[in-house]
Amino acid sequence: MGRLGRTGPRLTAVPDTNHQEGQPGLFAAAFFGLCPDCGEKSLFASVSRFSDKCPKCGLDYESYNVGDGPAAFMTMGVGAIIIILAILFENAVRPPFWVHAVIWIPVTVALTVLSLRLAKGMLLITEPRRSAREAKGDEIK
Ligand SMILES: [Zn+2]
Repeated sequence: MGRLGRTGPRLTAVPDTNHQEGQPGLFAAAFFGLCPDCGEKSLFASVSRFSDKCPKCGLDYESYNVGDGPAAFMTMGVGAIIIILAILFENAVRPPFWVHAVIWIPVTVALTVLSLRLAKGMLLITEPRRSAREAKGDEIK
């Protein structure tokens, strides 16, 4: 084979061996707050705060750490969407300022909470399914 040709076997997608029958899909589990193992609606204790563990199967949610990544990323994404929509609305309708406040403040809060819940849920659900964990010293090169 030439320099640009393939010399080894083709790379194929690795099947998700941790995914078992009966587990909810990633988006549905995050949106409805379902346990990634048993599907019980126990992932969230409040709107965006995780429960300690699943009361049905005992999966310990506290052992997983999604960090602040979802909050920062989703807040910037929601902010960009809101700014674009507000500019388009302003250019199309030219409403008084208070109309912007009445529309965009609740929309921003709702989108932020919803997106945060989805992002945090999807990250937490992915961790046990992919056996994600912190790398140990000899695994880091
Ligand atoms: Zn469970």
